[in-house]
Amino acid sequence: MIKDYQSQKELRDHYDVCIIGGGPAGITLALRLAGNGRRVVLVEGGGHEYSPASQNLYKVSSSGLEVYAEETRLRFLGGTSNHWAGRCRPFEPSDFTVGPPVRLPGWPIAYSEMERNLPAAMDIVDLPPLSGFKAINATLDGVEFEADRFLLSPPTRFAQKYAKELNETEGLDVFINCNCVDLEFDSKTGSIATVVVSDYELHRERVTAKQFILATGAIENARQLLNSESLAAGGIVSKDGYAGRCFMEHLNVDLGTFILKDGQGTDARQYFTTDAFVMEHRSGKGNVTASLVAEVKSYGRMAAIKSFFENLVCEVGAAHKIEFIAKFNCPGDGVLGTLIEQFPNPNSRLSLLDERDALGMRKVNVHWELSPEDRNTIKSIGLEVAKCFADTGLGFVKLEECVYDVDLRLKVNPHAHHMGTTRMSTSPEFGVVDENCKVFGVENLYVAGSSVFATGGACNPTMPLLQLALRLADYLNHQMGPVVGRYS
Ligand SMILES: Cc1cc2nc3c(=O)[nH]c(=O)nc-3n(C[C@H](O)[C@H](O)[C@H](O)COP(=O)(O)OP(=O)(O)OC[C@H]3O[C@@H](n4cnc5c(N)ncnc54)[C@H](O)[C@@H]3O)c2cc1C
Repeated sequence: MIKDYQSQKELRDHYDVCIIGGGPAGITLALRLAGNGRRVVLVEGGGHEYSPASQNLYKVSSSGLEVYAEETRLRFLGGTSNHWAGRCRPFEPSDFTVGPPVRLPGWPIAYSEMERNLPAAMDIVDLPPLSGFKAINATLDGVEFEADRFLLSPPTRFAQKYAKELNETEGLDVFINCNCVDLEFDSKTGSIATVVVSDYELHRERVTAKQFILATGAIENARQLLNSESLAAGGIVSKDGYAGRCFMEHLNVDLGTFILKDGQGTDARQYFTTDAFVMEHRSGKGNVTASLVAEVKSYGRMAAIKSFFENLVCEVGAAHKIEFIAKFNCPGDGVLGTLIEQFPNPNSRLSLLDERDALGMRKVNVHWELSPEDRNTIKSIGLEVAKCFADTGLGFVKLEECVYDVDLRLKVNPHAHHMGTTRMSTSPEFGVVDENCKVFGVENLYVAGSSVFATGGACNPTMPLLQLALRLADYLNHQMGPVVGRYS
């Protein structure tokens, strides 16, 4: 049942599982666990719709590269799925076998751990079963690039699609306008005893459960851990630890422009780096999209010349020739966009500020930077695309200078794919959660979402984070043992 915590203070005394955050990860976990007979509470900070009071709590400051974290995330039921684009591409086996070329380990789990939940994750976002991830028109197939493979979800809006189940699943309480503001760690038991929730009038209450799952998105998952004074006092979270570090994005870089040779068609093309390319260049993976610019616009002096001819049209007798010049645009120009893997880098990190938000939680600064290894990935991909265009007779690429001259400043835009801030590892030396997504040093606190990604590959994050959420639900069901009566 969905209840509004602002007016309905009807939390039960005890739950099996408390899930914090009602986006794709939290909703998936809540329905799975309650569907297996567990008594579950899902606490969602926002309401049914966008509201400034909730959205303002997402304000972060930013140093380094601009992440636009406040504008891109959505803080209400359904989370950022309320405006995601639905592009789905799963991880590949090599994402789990090849570690990043930096001094951090890669994924500590095998690809098979992800693969087994792929069909169920596809179903959740309305992708038909057995539909292969399709290749998009690509003509650079070879050692360096292959056709990209992805599927488009409708895109599934989780709050709308799962509203009935959230309302009707037995054993599931969903509270909207119910913000988690503290995780209370009991160092005697090594467990989270309660979480503190708050409405928008600062009415606070404690929620008790056997297991707790953070599913508030990659920035907020780390922020919740960093904010908890009891976790800091218990030594679980520290300034030098990995909570909040290794913030990763997918890099959206304008590599340059291209001109196609005659007869090469007009459809957009998508290429993906092969494993051989990545090994050879010690680079990250990447998707390159070559799109023709639909309408080439004139500006500057060219626009002035055209306007001169347009005005001349009536005065001279060469109307049709002048009209041709006035309307002429260079055909075939296109732009090269990217979705490029960024390697984990401890210096790209969230840090707590002294300033507090309206609910009393400390705000965070996001410091996002490019490492030399990231510049190498961008340069390798750019140069190779240009070479392949020429070698295959597709056309010619003009790269931006800053792509191959790594000393020049490069403009990077984010894809709003936040990852890595509570990374998975075999030990706290290099991460925050273990192979089962459990926070190191805490018996009953788990993390869901792309914050646990050890590396981000060049696939969109929602499909893999759903696969991991399903895996976590199975693990917890197993851990909690048989359901006693209707509820354990
Ligand atoms: C414009 C855009 C396009 C995108 N397109 C794609 C795409 O094509 N493919 C793809 O794979 N990904 C895409 N993404 C990324 C995708 O939206 C995220 O991967 C996905 O939403 C993450 O799910 P989540 O459940 O982990 O987090 P979120 O969706 O961020 O959900 C977190 C939830 O937690 C709640 N919450 C936050 N703080 C608290 C608190 N203190 N207490 C209680 N609740 C709280 C929030 O209100 C929210 O409902 C896109 C993102 C953007 C911005």
